[in-house]
Amino acid sequence: MEKKEQLYEGKAKKVFATTDQNLVIVSYKDDATAFDGLKKGTIVGKGVVNNRMTNMMMQLLEQHGVPTHFVKELSDRDTVVKKVKIVPLEVIIRNVSAGSFAKRYGVEEGIVFDEPTIEFSYKNDDLHDPLINSYHALALHLASKKEIETIKAYAFKVNEVLKEYFLTIGVKLIDFKLEFGRLPDGTIVLADEISPDTCRFWDAKTNEKLDKDRFRRDLGGVEDAYREIFARVTGK
Ligand code: ADP
Ligand code: UDP
Repeated sequence: MEKKEQLYEGKAKKVFATTDQNLVIVSYKDDATAFDGLKKGTIVGKGVVNNRMTNMMMQLLEQHGVPTHFVKELSDRDTVVKKVKIVPLEVIIRNVSAGSFAKRYGVEEGIVFDEPTIEFSYKNDDLHDPLINSYHALALHLASKKEIETIKAYAFKVNEVLKEYFLTIGVKLIDFKLEFGRLPDGTIVLADEISPDTCRFWDAKTNEKLDKDRFRRDLGGVEDAYREIFARVTGK
């Protein structure tokens, strides 16, 4: 399978058409952005880590009954996925307070919740991805009631599977963002990526950050953190 015309270039990935109209190739870049695109940089090797790690997570989730867009890894940076219409919601699950949750509610980071939380942002760059609730999403016809129920159920299932998996490699899954899409027949599948760009990972013993917060917050050791989490998931 080879790349045809470029359909889209985002902040972290490019999307290419293929000879099959139902499939696209996503190509992972080393470009990094934060704070709504205000901070820009490069994380050397990130594209490889995010591509391969995403594919491993998607396959693990498929094994646990979560349908995903994953089809085939082509190379270090390129993967064939089912082309979907992305549901314009960023679905965020949290197990521990951090980031915008801690800031919004004036609490410290690191509070372990009794139950995971879910929230949605409206995926709209012009509006800067505002927080939205499911009633608003329905009112705006972003998704149907049934789709929102399906998305919520899958998101919590993803959390259960990934939380357990990451503990086996000495990592706490603090929070993460998911995107879902619709196949041509309307089936909802997990899309986009699952990587240190989209998850917070803390070392289980030391709470050391092994994710994009090292870039966002200028903590140093950014590439090392991506290498470390990748080494753990690949067992190398
Ligand atoms: P952004 O658009 O936020 O800059 P990326 O650089 O990651 O993000 O670009 C990848 C784009 O591809 C995103 O807009 C994402 O929603 C979209 N996407 C992810 N998976 C699929 C898929 N299976 N089919 C079509 N589009 C997808
Ligand atoms: N996240 C993401 N893309 C976004 C916003 C958030 O992947 O556009 C992820 C982020 O990496 C973290 C989780 O979602 O794992 C929760 O992020 P939060 O709301 O705390 O936002 P931030 O701290 O990035 O402002």
